Amino acid sequence: MLIVFKKDHTHPQLEKVRQEVIKSGCKPHVLSGLYKVTINVLGDDSKLRPEDFKKFEGVEDVIMVGRPFKLVGRDFHPKNTEINVKGVAIGSDRFVVIAGPCAVESEEQTLRIAKAVKKAGADILRGGAFKPRSSLYSFQGLALEGLKILKRVGEKVGLPIITEAVDQSSLALVNDYADIIQIGTRNMQNFQLLHAVGQLKKPVMIKRGMSATIDEWLQAAEYIMNGGNDKIILCERGIRSFDSQYTRNVVDFSAIPVVQKLSHLPVFVDPSHGTGRPDIVKPMTLASLAIGANGVMIDVHDAPEQALCDGAQAIHPYELSEIMNQLKKLARPPGRGLA
Ligand code: PEP
Ligand code: MN
Repeated sequence: MLIVFKKDHTHPQLEKVRQEVIKSGCKPHVLSGLYKVTINVLGDDSKLRPEDFKKFEGVEDVIMVGRPFKLVGRDFHPKNTEINVKGVAIGSDRFVVIAGPCAVESEEQTLRIAKAVKKAGADILRGGAFKPRSSLYSFQGLALEGLKILKRVGEKVGLPIITEAVDQSSLALVNDYADIIQIGTRNMQNFQLLHAVGQLKKPVMIKRGMSATIDEWLQAAEYIMNGGNDKIILCERGIRSFDSQYTRNVVDFSAIPVVQKLSHLPVFVDPSHGTGRPDIVKPMTLASLAIGANGVMIDVHDAPEQALCDGAQAIHPYELSEIMNQLKKLARPPGRGLA
């Protein structure tokens, strides 16, 4: 339920309604928009009657919002969310490219690849320090040492960094080092983690769960925003389907315009984890631009056959350069595309 206030409402009038919402057992979230002040009623509002709130002085209207995600929805936040990460405008008309190795393996490896992706024109450097691996015997990441390396390298080459937090203890560390905190597909419904990241001020990228519906994905983002963190980026990274013979996952491109209709949050595509195939990262990236995604996140490695994580899906830096050149040629009309 959303309670909309008249333009000339007073603070005591708003406060009275806020207290009434608390009395009902729900949580009032006051949103002071440019045009309207509203109270977003969070929690189980199914037993509340709009007419009981309409009668309060200062209230203009009471709207029942049918969707389970209110804060990340467009209903009362029609304008796109734009997030500035060290000068990179995410969610703007600019198509943002995040690139780097799947995992931070060493200072030398990270620096080499970071220099190469910077030269190619990428905006943000990726690299995992905490790696959630299906196999216990796979490389699990350099943890704190990896974060330190990534930060040093990011500063050296002049790129903001994104890296994954896998649980609450790694989140505290990642928050100290990263410019964007990544929540991976396996943690999309780790509600404790979502709650914890919601308490932070850092931008967060939440990847779609590999078997999550769009509703579940947006509801996961709602957990983060409800905590007070509104700097959220969504990332479609492919979902599990019946045919994994040729691709690791199935990139749900239809999710991009669907999510953009439902939500004001920026939405990215990860063609690397989405397909597991370096040979089709280029067309997948171009398709992401064409369909209106706000950017892509791409695995890049200069020695994929030696990579400690996901080497089979990484593209070479020269391939990233080719993609960047192609992206520049395909500027979106008018004023869209790479600056
Ligand atoms: C990653 O980006 O390194 C990663 C682990 O991705 P996902 O959570 O999509 O599998
Ligand atoms: Mn990976």
